[in-house]
Amino acid sequence: MSMKITLAKHYGMCFGVRDALKAAEEAAGAGPLTVLGELVHNPVVEERMRGLGVRRGRLEAVGESGTERVMITAHGASDGVRGGWEAAGYRVVDTTCPLVKRAHRALALLVAAGCHPVVIGTAGHVEVRGLTGDFPGATVVETEADFVRLPEAARYGVVSQTTQPKRYVEGLVAALRRARPGSEVEFRDTVCQPTKDRQTALEELCQGNEVVIVVGGRHSNNTRQLVETARRLGKVAWQVETAADLRAEWFEGVELVGVTAGTSTLEETVSGVVAGIRAMAASLGERVMG
Ligand code: SF4
Repeated sequence: MSMKITLAKHYGMCFGVRDALKAAEEAAGAGPLTVLGELVHNPVVEERMRGLGVRRGRLEAVGESGTERVMITAHGASDGVRGGWEAAGYRVVDTTCPLVKRAHRALALLVAAGCHPVVIGTAGHVEVRGLTGDFPGATVVETEADFVRLPEAARYGVVSQTTQPKRYVEGLVAALRRARPGSEVEFRDTVCQPTKDRQTALEELCQGNEVVIVVGGRHSNNTRQLVETARRLGKVAWQVETAADLRAEWFEGVELVGVTAGTSTLEETVSGVVAGIRAMAASLGERVMG
């Protein structure tokens, strides 16, 4: 029996995370640095940062850093929090992804136009906290059940966390329009292109494979979304942080394995997982192709 391993057309680290990592490494080389939160939701990267002597702080704990320089991660922050650090005398290295900034701008424009702000995303996630932070009345919507928390409004202005599945977001917007027929619902699509590319590539990957392995951190929103999408498409999908999480029984009798990765996953981690699958297939007596 043989096994074929196929990598998704688009997978792994996006430009926003790559740029933030590079900036963190450069800033760490220039002196003491505290990163405000998880640079990316990936334990391998976090370990690398610890190795560079980078400290970890809390974004909203303004003024509580042992270093003069602090870094805002690619997930961004509210203007209030960023300004708070600056006003407290810290030097802020801001690595907010431009596509997160775009979502901030879209929401601010909707609010300026008189809409009640709505963010589709995971409540409590750092990016969502940043988006809603300057608009205390904003409503975070994860599912239709959250509509009950929406105040009555003539106009709702809706954006989404950049890493949400586009189809899910569009479905929720349509449901909101049905739930509030007397209100206008202004929607700005702020799902980022790298997330869209990875979602589309995953759908293609699911068409031709029996088992899908998703490489990424357990706390990574977009990694979890990839696993959930693969399962919704009827695939057996497993999430691993590194090759050490692989289990030989997942591959018994399996001929077609697809591999993808979240936007915070290092290429070397993906290569390690592919090598791990090969080794497991060999131990099961299978010939590996691809
Ligand atoms: S996932 Fe999208 S928004 Fe987030 S850092 Fe990457 S490119 Fe930017």
